[in-house]
Amino acid sequence: MLFMEFLFQTLYCFYLNVIIIIGFYQYFAYSQSDMREKVFQKIFPAFGTVNSLILYGGDCPSIAEQVKKRILELHRLFSFFEPESDIFRINKQAGREPVFVHRDTLYVLSRALAFGRETQGAFDVTAGAAGRLWRDAVRSAQIPSEREIAGCRSLSGLGDLILDEAAETAFLRRRGQQVDLGGIAKGYAADETARLLKEYKVNKALVNFGGTVITIGGEQKVGIQNPYQKNGESAAYIVVENKAVVTSGTYERGFFFEGRRYHHIIDPRTGWPADSGLLSVTLVGGSAMELDALATGICVLGEKRGLPLLEKRRIEAVLISDDGEIRITRGLQGNFFMGIK
Ligand code: AMP
Ligand code: MG
Repeated sequence: MLFMEFLFQTLYCFYLNVIIIIGFYQYFAYSQSDMREKVFQKIFPAFGTVNSLILYGGDCPSIAEQVKKRILELHRLFSFFEPESDIFRINKQAGREPVFVHRDTLYVLSRALAFGRETQGAFDVTAGAAGRLWRDAVRSAQIPSEREIAGCRSLSGLGDLILDEAAETAFLRRRGQQVDLGGIAKGYAADETARLLKEYKVNKALVNFGGTVITIGGEQKVGIQNPYQKNGESAAYIVVENKAVVTSGTYERGFFFEGRRYHHIIDPRTGWPADSGLLSVTLVGGSAMELDALATGICVLGEKRGLPLLEKRRIEAVLISDDGEIRITRGLQGNFFMGIK
């Protein structure tokens, strides 16, 4: 049975006057049905997911195109798979030589290392070898051997990623090591999008990069995926104003074997998929990159070890555990609603 437990002191309180319902269309839309407000949506693939921009008013199509250009630029730098990307080149030269990388890459890697330390290694961008092993396992629905898992586990290590700000290089110390920005890249891209939209003076927008959401202007509803239902069906929703809302879910990509679920979020300490009791972690705060890294990290750490990190940073959360309970932090009281948005 689903129930709520309020964990923190109320940090802030929202008073709702109007609730704006945002439709998700599977096509480009430019509507003037409401004469007071123009709405434009652009959908494009990047970071292995579907990315949606909904913009209100102004010169939306050309602004959306500029944002998309920037996001694809970041995708090309951060991709784990594309041979020209900074990440691919760092991985290829692991144990060999430092690689000259873009400032964006250096910045995200350095923040990723800081989040790695803050989560005591639960969020670890150097766990790329284990991540890749389990991605292949999910694809083939086959559990890797203990030997393979131990081999990949031994290849992670936050201290092995050497960043040189002056030389603008990144280097992995040991051969076979791999960095993977899959747990943080969309957050940085969403923050960049919000920055650009402010530059373009867009007053109201909804950015959704595969579950990494930023709302700009006015109160907006953001649905929280029901982990037991198909993609797009929400278990609950929250109403937020000018916030980032980021969800990480162990339900997202995985398979069942002999009653246990194996998925794509890795516990770097064991080399196995995280088994913290959390099915999904939704965080609400100011920076999508911060929330992205912490949501992935808390999937690994679990509720008890994760909540103090959130409290420290004044981040609110909706946690869904594998026994079906939904818990929210106290700051979301009054803004959290069960059901479909
Ligand atoms: P997210 O959807 O933000 O939780 O990111 C999941 C992705 O992050 C995975 O598909 C991997 O690419 C990567 N990843 C998996 N486990 C970890 C981890 N423990 N720390 C950092 N990144 C991870
Ligand atoms: Mg993440």
